[in-house]
Amino acid sequence: MANSTSIKEKELFGHPIGLFILFFTEMWERFSFYGMKALLIFYLTKYHLFSDSAGNLLIGSYAALVYAVPVIGGFIADKYLGFRKAIVFGGIMLVLGHLGMAYEGNAATESMTGEITRDNTALQVFYFSLALIILGVGFLKANISSLVGELYKVGDKRRDSGFTIFYMGINLGSFLATIICVWLGEEYGWSYGFGAAGVGMALGLTTFIVGKKYLMGKGESSAPELLNKVTFGIKNEWLIYLASILSTVVFWQMVQRHEAVSMSLMIAGAASVIYIVYYAVTELDKVARQQLFALTILIVFTVIFWALFEQAYTSLNLFADRVLDRGEIAAGTFLSLNALFIILLAPVFAWLWVKLGKYNPNTAVKFSLALILVGLGFGSLVLGINASGLGKVAIFWLVITYFLHTCGELCLSPVGLSAVTKLSPPKIVGFMMGVWFLATASSEFIASILANIASVDTSNGTAPDLGLAKESYLQLFEYLLYTGVGFGILLLALSPLVKKMMHGVDVDESGEDEILIEEKH
Ligand code: GLN
Repeated sequence: MANSTSIKEKELFGHPIGLFILFFTEMWERFSFYGMKALLIFYLTKYHLFSDSAGNLLIGSYAALVYAVPVIGGFIADKYLGFRKAIVFGGIMLVLGHLGMAYEGNAATESMTGEITRDNTALQVFYFSLALIILGVGFLKANISSLVGELYKVGDKRRDSGFTIFYMGINLGSFLATIICVWLGEEYGWSYGFGAAGVGMALGLTTFIVGKKYLMGKGESSAPELLNKVTFGIKNEWLIYLASILSTVVFWQMVQRHEAVSMSLMIAGAASVIYIVYYAVTELDKVARQQLFALTILIVFTVIFWALFEQAYTSLNLFADRVLDRGEIAAGTFLSLNALFIILLAPVFAWLWVKLGKYNPNTAVKFSLALILVGLGFGSLVLGINASGLGKVAIFWLVITYFLHTCGELCLSPVGLSAVTKLSPPKIVGFMMGVWFLATASSEFIASILANIASVDTSNGTAPDLGLAKESYLQLFEYLLYTGVGFGILLLALSPLVKKMMHGVDVDESGEDEILIEEKH
């Protein structure tokens, strides 16, 4: 039976064609997401003349919300909409949000006495566009990853490599964005860079809608009758969309208030843990329960990883702008190194995990490696700053940083997405994928606070004193080096326990253990 369906399944490079629909949809989504994000800190500090810390904190609030809302988006998809409808709705919100970003209004001005006048209407349009993007990513990001998982049956050996291919799509989008949107933004003006992001997202949405048939009915709602039922004269499905659109008002206000974001992150984090424990205790047998707890422990450690890694879009971006000996190259362009290394290295890592066979480290060990690597990445900059004397820091050191960060990311991110779809009970995959991104949300928030350790005094968006700037970046990067390596060692010590709790789910990439699990189900 299983065989007859899989024979009918159309394949490309040994994977279901649906994977490539999701690949291109997510490629364009990430193109818009990272294109906009790469320009953001400069748009705020150079165009609207925000201070470093105000800019970092705003990005922190935005990025935290953008990765927190997928918990709700995942939950709604599990219970009502299904992944496919949620993705379409998210995609539409994203197109609108990115196009809204293209409206830039007037640049802020600074008077002789240092008083700054900003275009408040333009800023409110900007905040509202961010709210639409937050809602859009909330419905799209986790659900598209869960849908990748749905393309593979339990025990299908191709799952991990499917996620690696998908992850390359993510980074192809991010690579193109950091080249094209950054170039358009610097060369022709902000609205061109932001506008290009919107066009990219429209292409992504089109790909997804046109490619529907290749999903072969995967990702549909588990409760279609409920969706079609009419309440207050409106179909429930439309009520969900309507309520979601109304929620942009809340995000619009929240993104402007850092404390409100921090409070809601704590509430969302606590509520998610309580729900996981409740679900595990009431619904699961011992093995499934321990697997879910193992996943939760792993997710907690990702908070530290991303808090360090996400310095890229704040402190590392400003560091590149001010302290790096970069000649004519725009600072934002260096962000493309991460994506480029992913595209080059992802196949190497995928091959390596298979090649290592029974020596393939388990997910917990891979995660601890990731933490150590992200820490060492900052070690490279510590060396670089120390070697720079009175001058600027050589590009080489930042290249090494992104190389090490990327190796770390490959030990954690695609492996982690796959682990979420393997270790979660099927009924709450969407929600758990949301929790995976909720961890990133907290880390984005922490990242912005960390970045402020190196907040440099500026006037008119440029750092006045190189020595001073270098000193504060040195302090930040040393701190991050120890944090990464320290937590990496801690997780390494815990890894045998976590491995035991996974009950063989990821031990053997040859699939033997997974087939055992399939029989058990
Ligand atoms: N770079 C990856 C993406 O955009 C991972 C993001 C994350 O989980 N922090 O999907």
